[in-house]
Amino acid sequence: MEDIVIHGSAGNSRVIFNDSFHSFYNYIPAGKKVVIITDSTIANLYGKSFADFAVIQIGEGEKHKTLQTLEKIFHEFLNLNVDRSWFIVGVGGGIVTDITGFAASIYMRGLSFGFISTTLLSQVDASVGGKNGVNFGEFKNMIGVFAQPSFVICDPTFLSTLPKKEFISGFAEIIKAAAIRDMDLFQYLDNNVDAALNNDPAVLKKLVYESVRIKASVVQNDEKEAGERRILNFGHTFAHSIELFMGLSHGEAVAIGMSLASEVSVKMGLLKKEEAERLKNLITKYKLPVMFSLDKDLVYKTLLKDKKREGDYINLVLLNGLGKAIVEKVPLYKMEEIVDDLC
Ligand code: NAD
Repeated sequence: MEDIVIHGSAGNSRVIFNDSFHSFYNYIPAGKKVVIITDSTIANLYGKSFADFAVIQIGEGEKHKTLQTLEKIFHEFLNLNVDRSWFIVGVGGGIVTDITGFAASIYMRGLSFGFISTTLLSQVDASVGGKNGVNFGEFKNMIGVFAQPSFVICDPTFLSTLPKKEFISGFAEIIKAAAIRDMDLFQYLDNNVDAALNNDPAVLKKLVYESVRIKASVVQNDEKEAGERRILNFGHTFAHSIELFMGLSHGEAVAIGMSLASEVSVKMGLLKKEEAERLKNLITKYKLPVMFSLDKDLVYKTLLKDKKREGDYINLVLLNGLGKAIVEKVPLYKMEEIVDDLC
């Protein structure tokens, strides 16, 4: 499996599938000093491998994906005398990589950075594509930048220590990639449920690779989400309020969000009922939820602050048939009716 390279506006981003994370130093530009940003779980499990480097540990969970954590990182950068001759490496899941990319991109107007991606979800989605940021108050990923990591290492070694819930969470983004773009991947997921859930190395490698391939091709055409990239948000408009307020993992929230978006697609005459059922069945086979009792006011309030909103419209990602996502500009008054209906 060859590396996948995204040619970003400010440099290339190489996603590496066939190398051990122990070799990460080979991808650091010559002469750069390295600081690692990680969380305590990764530090406990894998810290020995990074003993030669300065390490900054951050807290775990969405409640730590904040500007306060950034501030803490900047204080530590100053203590270490980090300057433009340094390279920042985020080692962790999507929370660590989102925060690391953001911290590196704005400290001293931007240092180079790379990721060692340790969760299934971050390997297939979060660490790829150059979106970095933090939550703000009640709103997810509200403050951030587009900036590409120089490299992302997807080493399957990490998946063996991942708690089951976090492992399962990753399949939501793989199902999303299939549902928006690739019926071959959808069928492959359907044919290999047991092997995938049992962490079969060949199956997992293919799933990670295909998901990154799909995401990279979309990002390559629209790095800053002016159009086509919006399809990657399938399921996410509803997911964001579910994830922040209802204590579910990102993948669980996206799974519910995809089910809701498929129901809206059926109501709008874009998707056949059987296709929506097929998607929900696949989500269920991967032990992810398709339903949740939603707080209507909370969901609507979060939608109003969603980054997919443009004035009086929300760019809602729907399915125009399985494997084909489209973006519909839905007026807010209509969105309120939809939320009413779904809740
Ligand atoms: P996470 O980063 O919170 O990691 C989940 C938990 O697993 C953490 O407790 C972590 O310490 C632990 N962990 C990580 N790797 C481990 C390993 N190998 N072994 C044992 N434990 C391990 O969660 P996540 O699901 O990776 O990421 C979710 C975040 O990603 C959300 O904040 C979401 O907004 C973001 N995201 C970003 C993008 C993007 O394009 N930037 C895309 C999707 C999701």
